[in-house]
Amino acid sequence: MPLPGISRRTVLAAAGAGTALAAAGLATAPAALAATPPTLPNGTSADKVLVVGMDGLRHDRIDAANAPVLKSLMAKGTYGRSLLYADPMAATSSGPGWSTISTGVWPDKHGVKDNTFTGKNYAKYPGFLARLNQVRPGLSLFAAVDWPELDTHGTVTPGADAKLVYDNDYVVNDALITDLTEQVLRDQNPDVLFVYFGETDEIGHNHGAASQKYLDAIAVQDGQLGRLLGAIEARPTRAAERWTIIVTTDHGHTDAGGHGGSSVEERRTFVLAQGPGIAAGARPVDTRLVDVAPTVFRQLGIVPDPSWGLDGKPIQDRSTDPFDALYGSLGGRVDETGIPAGVLGFTHTPPSGWSVVDNAMGTGGVAEWRGWSFATDEFWSRSQRDQWRELNVRARGVFAVADSDEWADKSSSGAYDTTLVTPAYAVAGAARVTLGFTTLYRQEGSQTAQVLASFNGGTPTLVKSYTSDVISQPQSLSVAVPAGASNVSFRFRYTGSNNWYWTIDGVTVTTS
Ligand SMILES: [Zn+2]
Repeated sequence: MPLPGISRRTVLAAAGAGTALAAAGLATAPAALAATPPTLPNGTSADKVLVVGMDGLRHDRIDAANAPVLKSLMAKGTYGRSLLYADPMAATSSGPGWSTISTGVWPDKHGVKDNTFTGKNYAKYPGFLARLNQVRPGLSLFAAVDWPELDTHGTVTPGADAKLVYDNDYVVNDALITDLTEQVLRDQNPDVLFVYFGETDEIGHNHGAASQKYLDAIAVQDGQLGRLLGAIEARPTRAAERWTIIVTTDHGHTDAGGHGGSSVEERRTFVLAQGPGIAAGARPVDTRLVDVAPTVFRQLGIVPDPSWGLDGKPIQDRSTDPFDALYGSLGGRVDETGIPAGVLGFTHTPPSGWSVVDNAMGTGGVAEWRGWSFATDEFWSRSQRDQWRELNVRARGVFAVADSDEWADKSSSGAYDTTLVTPAYAVAGAARVTLGFTTLYRQEGSQTAQVLASFNGGTPTLVKSYTSDVISQPQSLSVAVPAGASNVSFRFRYTGSNNWYWTIDGVTVTTS
């Protein structure tokens, strides 16, 4: 790609000891020749992390693109794909997306719902560079962005020892960022870097994700990523360093181009990570976008304080969720019409040790949702858009769902009445037992949702009854263990009549 002269106003801001270039100086000379990188403080860590953000990169288009660097990282690293939220939690836009990546929490915590950034709460949920600057100030931290909102709103750059901030003339400035970051990586000693590229999103908007131009834009960015990785390999001290590379995106695109809405194509995201302790060739089903920041912390040996309130986990940590074990046995649609036939994502067969009691269920209805099902985010949320099924953000992989609304989309008789029963867990000698899980519950009418406990197989007693919306929140229900009890099983009983739904995921049982 030729390096054009910069015709639009370009701003380079360098914090700390960095070099500031006058915009006028850039206006007449090729970018690569005109610019010199800022000077960073000397790094202090042998563990180093490069995070590369590619805006609006729909991962299912990478296969068709000339992208050898991304494909090599997938082979050598772990590649977790998932879906975003949608409104009313947040739009599938860059403000919420990069905020989620940077902070490691979902929009209901970081507060950014769209590109106005109204409601941002980075004071409580700072980006990972700001957090690193607080907890390990000796780290040498670098950020480069050409969507300047990530600087002006404080999403990414606070805490950086040096930063490059350019306007959104992406063809020019993605290349400039590559040139300068390459020099920083090769010639200096940074510890953690966040580098943003925007051209994939721009081409997505202008030509659509189905276009050849979009594939070409992926190929260009792949080459830019390759230059950064080459600069790392060229470091004289490379052999003594442990580098982690993370690549991610903030949202997808429609085939025709555009995002912000609730289609699966707009909601597609991924986290791709390669480095020490991260499995080669892994394709976990339990990765979500909030996992970028916790993976950065893990690779630096930093244990997040619970007070940080992170929603993510390191990409190498597998969830212990028994529902995820069902992933390989999920099937395709039966009665549903809104789910493409090739999307495999539901079963009625519970995990080993679990059971579903449907003897009070009516007959007929949509087969997929007759009583508790086990489903993926994509399968369930494709059943009907814009009814808040997209908000199940704290579920991972396969989760349990009881959905009287979708069941009622085909003729049926009788009530929707279904109970999910856990295995029996040992409680002998314990004073209390605590049931943890995450839930998305949407209330309507006479719908009921109850958690019950049965000790030693006795009559279940009510622990909790849900009577209002719970939008993807962790739950912790503590129950006293009766004298002499040796085990407990829990029940999730849902009844409804063409109302809404209830999801359960990440069930844990602990005693004290
Ligand atoms: Zn966009």
